[in-house]
Amino acid sequence: MSLRECFVALGDLVLPRHCPVCGRRLTLSERHLCLTCRSDIPYTHFWERDHNPMADKYNARIREQIPDGVEEAYGHAAALFYYNSESGYKNIPQALKYRSALGLGREFAAQLGARLASSGLFADVDLVVPVPLHWRRRWGRGYNQAAVIAERVAACLDARFGRTVLRRLRYTHSQTTVGMEKKASNVSGAFRVVDRVEARHILLIDDTFTTGSTLAACHQALRQVYPPSVRISVATLSYVGP
Ligand SMILES: [Zn+2]
Repeated sequence: MSLRECFVALGDLVLPRHCPVCGRRLTLSERHLCLTCRSDIPYTHFWERDHNPMADKYNARIREQIPDGVEEAYGHAAALFYYNSESGYKNIPQALKYRSALGLGREFAAQLGARLASSGLFADVDLVVPVPLHWRRRWGRGYNQAAVIAERVAACLDARFGRTVLRRLRYTHSQTTVGMEKKASNVSGAFRVVDRVEARHILLIDDTFTTGSTLAACHQALRQVYPPSVRISVATLSYVGP
C-alpha cells in the first residue's frame, strides 16, 4: 500500500467517499467516480463536429443579437458529456457548484481540455474566459466553478487564462427558479469587458449548457470590444440533452 493509499484508507474510515453519479461507496483505488460510472460517461463527441446541437443553439442565439449585414465568425461549441433530468451525471456539475468538489471539477476540466486540444476546431484558441459570477455569489461560494474549469482548459490549450476579462454587473437570481424565456432577458446585458486582452480566438467557459442564454450574453459583451474577425467559441463540462 502506498502512502497515498494509506491516507485515502484512513480518510475513508472517517468520512467514506461516494460516487457522485450512482451514490455507491468508492473503493480504495477509485478516484472521484466509481469504475462503472467512469466507463459509462456519456461523452458528446461535439469537439469532433463543427456542426452539432450545441453549436446550432449557440450560433442561433448569437444571430438574434447581431445587426443585419454584420459578418460573424461561426462559433464552435463543445461539451464533455450529456445529462438529462434522470441521469446521475447531472450530479457532477452540481457537486462542483454546490459541494466544493474542486478535484472532481479539475479532473473533468482536464478531460475536456485534452479533447479540445486534439480537435482542429479549438487548436488556435489563444484566450480562455470563464463566465464570471457576481462578486456576492463568488464571495458566498468561495470560488467560481467556471473559472476552475477555464484555468485547466487554458493550460491544456496553451492559451492565456482570462480570469478578469469579463465582469458580471448584475446579481441575477438562481436560474433554476427562472423560466426559459425569462432567463434570456434575465442575463442580457449582465456582463461587461473590464480587462481587454489581445486575442484571435476566444473560448468562453461555463459549467453547463442549457439554453445558451448566459453564454450569448457574454458573447454580446465581448463583441462590443472585439471585432467580428475574432472568433468567440464556447465549451462546457456538460450539455443538457438526450
Ligand atoms: Zn458510480
